[in-house]
Amino acid sequence: MNIGFIGLGNMGAPMAANLAAAGHNVKGFDTAGVSVDGVETVDTAAAAVIDQDVVITMLPNGAILRAVAADIIPSMRPGACFVDCSTVDVDSARAVAEMAQDAGLLAVDAPVSGGIGGASAGTLTFMAGGSDAGFARAEPLFEIMGQKAVHCGESGAGQAAKICNNMILGVTMIATCEAFALADKLGLDRQKMFDVVSTSSGYSWTMNAYCPAPGVGPQSPADNGYKPGFAADLMLKDLRLSQQAAESADADTPMGALAQALYAQFVESENGAGMDFSAMLPRFEKRTRD
Ligand code: NAD
Repeated sequence: MNIGFIGLGNMGAPMAANLAAAGHNVKGFDTAGVSVDGVETVDTAAAAVIDQDVVITMLPNGAILRAVAADIIPSMRPGACFVDCSTVDVDSARAVAEMAQDAGLLAVDAPVSGGIGGASAGTLTFMAGGSDAGFARAEPLFEIMGQKAVHCGESGAGQAAKICNNMILGVTMIATCEAFALADKLGLDRQKMFDVVSTSSGYSWTMNAYCPAPGVGPQSPADNGYKPGFAADLMLKDLRLSQQAAESADADTPMGALAQALYAQFVESENGAGMDFSAMLPRFEKRTRD
């Protein structure tokens, strides 16, 4: 296929490189002027999308996505497919899909899980929203960039799945970290805590696969000085998206709201920016009840 790829950052660059390595013709554009193995980089977004079968965007947020979409959609060939893989708010995903459909394009929102490691290894999970025809067009590319793609429903459903998943993740990580900090103060050995919880009803992905305590459980960012991994500021972004969605859908999400407040405090007032989101454990360790 002929593919345009806009946004060649930490995630987009390896995703585009994997598509090129699989034999697709990929033209890429990034405002930072990045170069990527196998990808022909061009000077404007429009130049990357003209005559392409599929255009993929991997951008920082919904406002940038909306601006890029308004810029490129008029240059895209009718019948082509616009696939946005960024994590953005549901409203932006739906607005961009509508803009694309009005111009005669297929549109899919397809945020990913799996991080930079998954993007490089081609093992991402895609959660997609859009028509059956749009999903069918994008699916072969998801198979190259990832190991699993779930068609979640109409436009916006992919973003809805992503932010619900990450709201659970943020809440669960905080619960796991505060429980470790409590266990410390009760004199419980961390390895014993892991041995019990990881095989009891408190088990979770954050405990079993991404344990926030250094030296306990499988290798995780905690074993690497809490270098991300998945940065606390990205977790804060996703929690904010979940609370924005909860407000617009009139859903009651008190735990999500509290997780957002705690990550905001951590990132904005406690030097948590740039640290892995599991660094909530040393944060709780230092704290007392006041
Ligand atoms: P990043 O900041 O490394 O990459 C974004 C890229 O977009 C940058 O290279 C930037 O120069 C480029 N860009 C910004 N404005 C642009 C424009 N107008 N036109 C063209 N390029 C533009 O971010 P990332 O880590 O690659 O994340 C991208 C998206 O993926 C985000 O929405 C993020 O939430 C999501 N995501 C990230 C991870 C992760 O672990 N990094 C995991 C899952 C999802």
